[in-house]
Amino acid sequence: MQTFFSEDHRYHFPQAELSGGQFVTPYERPSRVEFVLSRLKERGLGDIVAPPGADLKPARRILDEGFLRFLETAWDEWKAAGMKGEVIAAGMPTRRQRHDRIPRNIDGKVEYYCHASETAITQGTWRAALSSLASAQAAQRAVAGGARAAFGLCRPPGHHATSDQYGGYCFLNNAAVAAEMFRLDGAARVAVLDIDFHHGNGTQDIFWRRGDVLFASIHGDPLDSYPYFAGFADETGEGEGEGCTLNVPLPPGTGYGPWSAALDDLIARIRDFGAEALVVSLGVDAYKDDPISFFRLDSPDFTDAGRRIGRMGLPTVFLMEGGYAIEQVGVNTVNVLEGFLDA
Ligand SMILES: [Zn+2]
Repeated sequence: MQTFFSEDHRYHFPQAELSGGQFVTPYERPSRVEFVLSRLKERGLGDIVAPPGADLKPARRILDEGFLRFLETAWDEWKAAGMKGEVIAAGMPTRRQRHDRIPRNIDGKVEYYCHASETAITQGTWRAALSSLASAQAAQRAVAGGARAAFGLCRPPGHHATSDQYGGYCFLNNAAVAAEMFRLDGAARVAVLDIDFHHGNGTQDIFWRRGDVLFASIHGDPLDSYPYFAGFADETGEGEGEGCTLNVPLPPGTGYGPWSAALDDLIARIRDFGAEALVVSLGVDAYKDDPISFFRLDSPDFTDAGRRIGRMGLPTVFLMEGGYAIEQVGVNTVNVLEGFLDA
């Protein structure tokens, strides 16, 4: 299986994340993908290829133009306004406030386009986000071109980013763009399977009213975990998208038994849907020692999960999302891919 990876991810490395009332080194840091890279090489999984530049044309079909412009210019505007630190949202529009006016002031603009203030924008964030998207797109093109599967080793991740908001360490929704590209390439129906510990609120939001893209996610119960305000079982889509959003929230301490039962259920639903291509939002933070999650999967469980996904027999693009138990991120990610190839 080919991996697509860009060194430009390094341009995004904020100094700090607001966590537990303190500024800490961000959990989402460059070393995460280094562990995945070295494990890929150790296991000889396949070529690791630098992608060509990102193509924003398919992204523009599903992402807001003003949002893209904001991401591109936020850092310069922030600095031009005399701000000393990294771009961090101090607030967000809340209940009963206006959501239909975009502030002129950069501080307000950041609040408008952000949904979680742990995520900072730095000088290199846009460049890194584009390179992450480029890896996802190259992986999609490889699969659309006939490969059984490909892996986009994306960083920063994408599944929390909506069409017009960033947060949860995510800026551009790589999985959503890859799914849209499969549609453009002629797949009548596409599924996104999100196995990251956290609910993929961004992907859900982007395809909420779409009947041609199924979004299926297993994640920590939002009553107990970020993103808190999305991912409940009764969120099923609207309009043409009714029934095309599937959420399985699970409680703290969930082990592989109930987790894999949920996976099997979603796999059956993806089959029934008639998906012709699959995008997997591959987070490995369901791991038992992940510092910001509460499931209890062990490393061999990821291999088994990959095998179950592989048995679907669909052309599959894997895209890196979360996973923060730094050293094990490599092992667990590659385990999923090896399980898939083994199926
Ligand atoms: Zn996650």
